[in-house]
Formats: sequence, structure tokens, C-alpha cells
Amino acid sequence: MYNEIYEKIKKHDTIVIVRHIGADPDSLASQLALRDSIRLTFPNKKVLAWGNSSARFDYFPRLDKFEELSDILLIVTDTPDKKRIDFSWTTNIIDSIKIDHHPYIETFCELEYIDDTASSASELILELINNTPLLNSDEIAKTIFTGIASDTNRFMFNASSKVLRLVSNLFDEYNVDVTEVYSNLYMRPLNEVRLQGYIAQNIVVSENGFGYVKISNDTLNKLSVDSGSAGNMVNNFNYIEGMYVWAVITEDIKNNLFKVNIRSRGPVINIVAEKYNGGGHKMASGARLSTMEEVDLLLKDLDESCKIYLEERVIDNED
Ligand code: AMP
Repeated sequence: MYNEIYEKIKKHDTIVIVRHIGADPDSLASQLALRDSIRLTFPNKKVLAWGNSSARFDYFPRLDKFEELSDILLIVTDTPDKKRIDFSWTTNIIDSIKIDHHPYIETFCELEYIDDTASSASELILELINNTPLLNSDEIAKTIFTGIASDTNRFMFNASSKVLRLVSNLFDEYNVDVTEVYSNLYMRPLNEVRLQGYIAQNIVVSENGFGYVKISNDTLNKLSVDSGSAGNMVNNFNYIEGMYVWAVITEDIKNNLFKVNIRSRGPVINIVAEKYNGGGHKMASGARLSTMEEVDLLLKDLDESCKIYLEERVIDNED
């Protein structure tokens, strides 16, 4: 499969790389590392990375400005379904490739490489580079490591022997300043720490081990934080005794919706999120809903999945 991807890259002169809306470090890293590797390998090709990002990801190499192009090879990284791609589809595409580590949702590219056992889309880009003539560099290695470190939450999740080996080999060959990467990823302003305190004080945990907190636009304004930072807080509440699934619900006035970020350390949650037009991984999902009534229904379903999980655990222990 890596060879087939490489052959398509080699064949086309104009390549655009995109990823999902709501950019996060792994989606950006996979997109930018692939762009920079193709540019390094084929200096005469036009290779662009498109999409919206946010100022907090300024430590990454720059994205490219949109321009009118035709006959492009489109490469989509880190995105399982067409509706979530940060791309307008007005550009004339002659070929397409998907490289993703989410559970399969739908086919929308000519060639699709999906490995949902991979820790991150960045891990797949590293494997693509390692297994083809595509070139790597210190800068690209740093971008890739940033994506892997972020999606595994510093190797707390999906820390397979494979990804640890890949990173170990990467460090042997390239100069990656791990301290700098971690400071890029984890440095945060004091008001975000205060928001974390607000969540800790206000999270409601049900008897089934489901925790949630609703963050209104007023609270965001009082603490001077944006809705994106609030959603990311969901990653800071793992390993709390008696809490198996937790969700942060953030009011997003600008887009007139509620963002729900969900994490689990037991029940599978993406199937629940999918019922509400959301999705994601088994243990890390999200949804965007337009009313609080829908949010409450989703929360009820998540609570129910915790209840079933606990009941099944009791049965297992009895066996
Ligand atoms: P997040 O909480 O934003 O880090 O998202 C966790 C996972 O859920 C990622 O794999 C996202 O791609 C996925 N996800 C988040 N929001 C949605 C959504 N509205 N629809 C489908 N998948 C989502």
C-alpha cells in the first residue's frame, strides 16, 4: 500500500493535502509533515497544505494560502468521513488518497489507507516515509513527533511497541528537541488553568460513573478563554476514580452550537456519538449539537453506556 501511495505522489505534479475541520496537532502534523517530505523529495512539484488553523498551533510550519488550481492529487489525512474535511471541493481533483487511523466510516478517495490500530495519523506518515523513497529531516521528524506525542497524550494511550520503536528509531536518526515539543504542546495561559479548576469544581458525576460539565458562554467570557481551549480540557480528566466516561459541553456562540468532547476509559463511546451526528475513536469522540435538548439526550445515552459497562464488569467478576 505504501508503494501505491508513493507511485501516485510521484505521478502528479500538483498535490493538495487537507485534513479535518477543527484542526488538532495530529491532523496538522500529518498534513504538514507529508507536505514537507514531498517537497523535499520532489522540489519541482507544487505541494500545498490547506485548511483553517488557530494561533495556538503557531509552532507548526505554516499552512498554504488557497489558490485556484486544477488537476490536483488530493491527499486527505486523519479524516474518516467526507463531511468533516476542511476543504471546499471546488478544486478540480483528478486523483485522491486517504491516510487515516480512525475507524472506517465511508470511502471517498481512489486509494484509501486506513489503520485504526495506529496511534495517530502522524505514525502512518512516518511509516509511509520510512517505507518509500520519501525523505525525512530534523524539522519533519519534529512535526511527526509532535503529532504522535499529542494523539497518544505523551504515550499514555495506544503506546504500542510499534510506535515506541518507530519513535526510538526516529530519535536515533534525527535531532528532535523533546522538551521544546512538550512545551509547544502543553504550555498554557493561567486562565486555562483556572478553567481547569472550574471544571474540577463543577463536574457532575452520576452513580454510573459518567461525568459531565457544561460551560456556558458567560463562563468562557468570565475566565477569558475560547471554546476551543475549553473542549481540550477533556484530556486533563482521565484516571479519576469511579469516573469511566466524561464529557465537556461548551457553548459556541459564534457557530450557534454546543460542542461536546467525550473521553472514556471503559465503555465504547464513538457509537453513541455517531447517533448524534458525531463520531471519533472508541475512547475519544466528539459531537456538535444545535440544542441543549439534544445534548441532554446524548448525555443520557453516555450515562446508560456506563451503566451497561458496570453491569457487564460485575458479571465478569462473578464468572
Ligand atoms: P476532540 O475531542 O475534538 O479531540 O475529538 C476526539 C475525536 O472525535 C477525534 O478523532 C475527532 O475527529 C472526533 N470528533 C470530534 N468531533 C466530531 C464530530 N462532530 N463528528 C465526528 N467526529 C468528531
